Amino acid sequence: MDTKYIFITGGVTSSLGKGIISASLGKLLQARGYRITIQKFDPYINIDPGTLNPYEHGECYVTADGMETDLDLGHYERFTGIETTRDNSVTTGRIYQSVIERERRGDYLGKTIQVVPHITDEIKRRILLNASKQPLDFVITEIGGTIGDIESQPFLEAIRQLRWELGSSRALNIHLTYVPYLAAAGELKTKPTQTSVKQLQGFGIQPDVLVLRTEHELNDDLRRKVAHFCNVDVEAVIQSQDLPSIYEVPLNMQKQGLDEICLKKMKVEAIAEAELGSWYDFLERRRQAKDVVNIALVGKYDLQDAYKSILESLAHACTYHNRKVKTHFINSEFLNQDNVAEQLQDMAGVVICPGFGQRGIEGKIITAEYTRTHDIPTFGICLGMQMMVIEFARNVLGYTDANSTEIDPETTHNVIDLMETQKTITQMGGTMRLGTYDCTLIPKSRTWKAYGEKLHIKERHRHRYEFNNLYLGEYEQHGMRCAGFNPSANLVEIVEIPTLRWYIGTQFHPEYSSTVLQPHPLFMDFIKACLWKS
Ligand code: GLN
Repeated sequence: MDTKYIFITGGVTSSLGKGIISASLGKLLQARGYRITIQKFDPYINIDPGTLNPYEHGECYVTADGMETDLDLGHYERFTGIETTRDNSVTTGRIYQSVIERERRGDYLGKTIQVVPHITDEIKRRILLNASKQPLDFVITEIGGTIGDIESQPFLEAIRQLRWELGSSRALNIHLTYVPYLAAAGELKTKPTQTSVKQLQGFGIQPDVLVLRTEHELNDDLRRKVAHFCNVDVEAVIQSQDLPSIYEVPLNMQKQGLDEICLKKMKVEAIAEAELGSWYDFLERRRQAKDVVNIALVGKYDLQDAYKSILESLAHACTYHNRKVKTHFINSEFLNQDNVAEQLQDMAGVVICPGFGQRGIEGKIITAEYTRTHDIPTFGICLGMQMMVIEFARNVLGYTDANSTEIDPETTHNVIDLMETQKTITQMGGTMRLGTYDCTLIPKSRTWKAYGEKLHIKERHRHRYEFNNLYLGEYEQHGMRCAGFNPSANLVEIVEIPTLRWYIGTQFHPEYSSTVLQPHPLFMDFIKACLWKS
């Protein structure tokens, strides 16, 4: 079968859950046995979100091949279990960068470079790229932002052209809009949807399917009305109501026939029904789970999207332990010796979050000290691991000024220091130690056991600073051990205090690779340790 392309656009407002709808449709098609990939095209001008503050678009997700990407790629991987790559995340910045590089090389033979056709051609090339590298039945392309934004116009033009070139059986548009409820009138309003579809039609794109995000059930009359006004079949007007979990969305979409409609419209004979057995099992466990595990998330970003993958990884692991997770965000900026006990003493476990820069650092160190001395299961991730290391140097090794050179370049005890390979780097974008690296586990360590006694693992990274090996001997003598290292560069990747219940810090980010059907072994083991009282 020729590769088919599904474009997902959004109207009316952002944050309607396009990423979840894309991931859900991907899941349903995958569960029917099709080879799929999901990609995200973001109209902003940054080359990638790596240099963006999480307050802008939430967490920066990292692919195995080392691309810093939008957090929606995390949803794609968590839903489908299929790894994404740098080809699955494209921004306006990257599009312009390649066109401009080609112009400088002289590839355009004296022509004037214009948005149409040069930028739109590059967008089309990128949309088709994944399927030129591997056999794929469906490529789902989510367009970030909201139609009507100035910067999304070239993307819409590229989709319009592709739909024309590929034909209606190979290209399809799903448009996601919002149906607000006006409490005073007691009514759901379809006008924003009608306007948004008109706007899309103005770009020459007729949506084939409409997904209406709503907080209230839509009745058949309303669906008929939308269908009638927007030239869409009634059966292709689908509602996406708020659900208790994002993982319920694929089933809700399946119930309304989203995948079936897409297949029908693209004239694909269905090869099989969707096989969702283990997905149902996961949801059933989730629904049945009653007992709550309280986990503190100590970080500086007071925003739930900033730690998206960690939250999801905790939820996956808790579900498989038949528990519900309750995360308590604790802003490390306001954490001090006087309030730390009150904030953390009732927690079953504590995650010390990743991050960059000075703000909130001391609160993380105080957390590491409190949980170490009170034996509360603690998981330090990247910067969190570095803070565990600093705390240990200050309070156990007696180096009171120990620090990371990221925070204090003048410290005399630089237990965390810039990696050798980072010292000559002057450009900030895309130059960290990124993506998957090998890690060798130390046999008999707690971490080795957590990974099912595997010796070699691979995990994803995003950092510039590293444990300073000059101090390793001293740490080991005093009870903090290296439990895993990178074999080629001899970098410490994992530290643990084996005498404690669970006190492990990883320089890598295990949260990027936990999926619904394959929860991450370290999160599984961490939650198991958090349940020691029950
Ligand atoms: N800022 C630290 C570093 O660059 C940690 C990064 C992180 O937590 N992702 O090494």
